[in-house]
Amino acid sequence: MPRELLLQVTPEIAANELLLKDYLSKQIKVSPKEIQHVSILKRSIDARQKAIKINLKVIIYLKGEAFQETKIELPIYKDVSSAQEVIVVGAGPAGLFAALQLIELGLKPIVIERGKDVRGRRRDLKAINREHIVNEDSNYCFGEGGAGTYSDGKLYTRSKKRGDVTRILELLVAFGASEDILVEAHPHIGTNKLPKIIEDIRNKIIEFGGQVLFDTRVTDILVKNNEVEGIVTQNGDKILANKLILATGHSARDIFELLDKKKIFIEAKPFALGVRAEHSQELIDSIQYSCDYRGEHLPPAPYSIVKQVNGRGMYSFCMCPGGVIAPCATSPGEVVTNGWSPSKRDQATANSGIVIELKLEDFKPFAKFGALAGMEFQKSIEQKAWHLAGETQKVPAQRMIDFTQNKVSADIPKTSYVPGTTSVEMGQVFPGFLSQILREGFKEFGKSMRGYLTNEAILHAPESRTSSPVRIPRDPLTLEHLQIKGLYPCGEGAGYAGGIISAAIDGEKCALMIAEALK
Ligand SMILES: Cc1cc2nc3c(=O)[nH]c(=O)nc-3n(C[C@H](O)[C@H](O)[C@H](O)COP(=O)(O)OP(=O)(O)OC[C@H]3O[C@@H](n4cnc5c(N)ncnc54)[C@H](O)[C@@H]3O)c2cc1C
Repeated sequence: MPRELLLQVTPEIAANELLLKDYLSKQIKVSPKEIQHVSILKRSIDARQKAIKINLKVIIYLKGEAFQETKIELPIYKDVSSAQEVIVVGAGPAGLFAALQLIELGLKPIVIERGKDVRGRRRDLKAINREHIVNEDSNYCFGEGGAGTYSDGKLYTRSKKRGDVTRILELLVAFGASEDILVEAHPHIGTNKLPKIIEDIRNKIIEFGGQVLFDTRVTDILVKNNEVEGIVTQNGDKILANKLILATGHSARDIFELLDKKKIFIEAKPFALGVRAEHSQELIDSIQYSCDYRGEHLPPAPYSIVKQVNGRGMYSFCMCPGGVIAPCATSPGEVVTNGWSPSKRDQATANSGIVIELKLEDFKPFAKFGALAGMEFQKSIEQKAWHLAGETQKVPAQRMIDFTQNKVSADIPKTSYVPGTTSVEMGQVFPGFLSQILREGFKEFGKSMRGYLTNEAILHAPESRTSSPVRIPRDPLTLEHLQIKGLYPCGEGAGYAGGIISAAIDGEKCALMIAEALK
């Protein structure tokens, strides 16, 4: 009978199949030759002690025990070319996984995406980085694959439903992601690997009779007697269907404005906002692994930190080990930061959003915008950053200790943010109370992570697209909009997801609810 074992080994043993077999053979008192195969079921790093250990859950097959390599397969999709049509607006994780699920359920998705296909997007990213030109339909947030495409592809989620999470991870593996994502405690895919996976998802949707339209921006939702009839695109074309999944992400301000103008019920939602901090990866490794050199068997160290400062949560968000800070504006006249890493996380710098939780009362100065108050608050900060940094895609920047001491930095070393930096007093970007919390918070962070509070760390502002500033409320059981029949607000933009995995799960759920409603 194959044996499951929980164990702690050195990083060297965990990284080497032969050493691991040898170690296990001693544990279970058999000769290494007797071990036919070892499968790793879970892997995590325990860096609490100076001697770092790797936690493994393994299953050991001895010779003669039935062992079969399992290949993760795609579900059986049906041809849906002449099935009932469902409009899916947005080809981010929510929209793409909704489309796949619709096909599995025998419905035909028509995916409508304002941006370009995943390859075409690259040219526009270059234009932001090199020429400071922001294309409002094709950028780090908009285009095939959504905001998650040029990301770190971190796949951990707070979702408690393991079954749902595993299903999404297995689908990603079936579409070409490494099987390691099923095993790692903190899986990630990497910016260089995501585009091919997304392209394969799109090809599968088309192969089974779905449609995917790029460069097609939805400018109106047709509603009659509080029921969806279809959408209108920027060219005035109409696409009709009475079921619509709206998965347009947290940055589709024109969609929030459209819903507000049409008096389709939406509400302001708190989100978090702050800066993106960049340290050398070597420094983060030395803090997290308590060593001068992390060696060849440990990955670039991540960090995660939460503090209560003046009654508010201040925490690290979307930390990218060995990564790069990206210009994530979706309109000209604003500056927005976020981060990504390649699959090997092999860049010299580590960056992380450091954000403060906002409350609805913070949006009071923008109360006249009603449900869009949070969005306008967010916009005002992004626009202020743009003005402060010289009205290009350069980002306001400050050394960390200088920021805590209210001192403009004499110089800013080159950071990973390609469009460049402008030295400013960062406090000017934010309302006073937020700057104050950030200043105090960095001092607290420095106490928890010795070495973190350093003038070699550079802050970039703002990190402002952490989640949607608007919720599009829906019935918790049917997932249909509270007021408009046939409208399924979905994913991060609707306020029901935060991250790639939870957005994908939400996409699947909306598709399932549509199939249920059509029964
Ligand atoms: C640089 C960066 C790094 C990130 N890193 C990670 C990470 O490592 N791990 C993680 O879990 N999350 C990460 N995120 C967040 C993650 O990408 C989002 O949580 C996730 O993509 C949300 O999925 P979604 O499908 O709900 O929305 P989105 O991915 O935002 O997709 C919405 C789509 O709708 C389209 N759209 C918008 N308006 C219209 C319209 N009017 N007509 C037609 N189409 C429209 C957009 O072009 C877009 O493609 C990162 C985000 C960024 C920007």
